[in-house]
Amino acid sequence: MIIVLRKNADRGQVEHLKDWLKQQSVEIEAIKGSHSTVLGLVGDTSHVDIEMLEALDIVESVKRIQEPYKKANRKFHPNDTIVDVSGVKVGKGSFTLIAGPCSVESEEQICSIAQSVKASGAKILRGGAFKPRTSPYAFQGLRANGLELLSEAKAKTGMPIVTEIMDLSQLPLFENVDLIQVGARNMQNFELLKALGKINKPILLKRGLSATIQELLMSAEYIMAGGNENVILCERGIRTFETATRNTLDLSAIPVLKEKTHLPVIIDPSHATGIAAMVKPMSLAAVAAGADGLIIEVHNDPPHALCDGQQSITPQMFDELSKQVGTLYDTVKEMY
Ligand code: PEP
Ligand code: MN
Repeated sequence: MIIVLRKNADRGQVEHLKDWLKQQSVEIEAIKGSHSTVLGLVGDTSHVDIEMLEALDIVESVKRIQEPYKKANRKFHPNDTIVDVSGVKVGKGSFTLIAGPCSVESEEQICSIAQSVKASGAKILRGGAFKPRTSPYAFQGLRANGLELLSEAKAKTGMPIVTEIMDLSQLPLFENVDLIQVGARNMQNFELLKALGKINKPILLKRGLSATIQELLMSAEYIMAGGNENVILCERGIRTFETATRNTLDLSAIPVLKEKTHLPVIIDPSHATGIAAMVKPMSLAAVAAGADGLIIEVHNDPPHALCDGQQSITPQMFDELSKQVGTLYDTVKEMY
């Protein structure tokens, strides 16, 4: 971090600032020019509050050189992290398919979809029980009952399950959940992230609708700072001016994240596009761009789905997609 001090900055205040910075365990290299003085901070500056520095009278500007995230940063952890989801390894060396309905609707629905997607190669079953819906009048999910039905599907198929938590108060119900999803709308629910940092379960963190990649990484850092380093990142489309698709899938987030972090990166082409026919092309594109997996909405009767039917593919479509993704992954995996 570089701090440019104002011309004629009060010496006493400058010394005070230096003492304060030393207390934060950073070393200071001062460069005195004829017009102004620059302080170069060396060491871990992730704890240094940049906005506080900028507010000081003696400071003209502050520039961060090092990223404000440490645990998620590849610089400090060059090897790829492989997250173990109850025996399913997510990360470099394998390609993980997560599939299932947007929402758990009934025992029959979740169990039959689970069996189909498992037979087609999915390794983790998805299904929403607590649903973040834009309208309070829309189906809100089967809540605790939905979690029980997911557990039944897990018992029948042996597949680990992933489902979304919307509030800290729901955590006691998530005992049998293998991978806890933090949805796009909660990516910056910092109290939730802090609490999930203290538990011993992997977290699937989805990128917020209007969140930058750095903000996504800072949210991962919240979880990791608490001690839980098992975080999988998910790009699920961001808000842009484009209306032809539900969101705009930011595929470049894959190589950017791969460079900046060691955490696994998966893609959600269902919420990214909002259109069932677009799921396959964007899935293939995600494989080609180096993703570690996909999370896909699959429904046995999309026109009658209680949530997100328009973007849900059928088990037959998933079966075909799974084969094509597998073929493409075998071709590109040595390239990354
Ligand atoms: C979901 O996966 O069901 C979901 C609601 O996703 P997102 O948070 O990405 O909108
Ligand atoms: Mn959905």
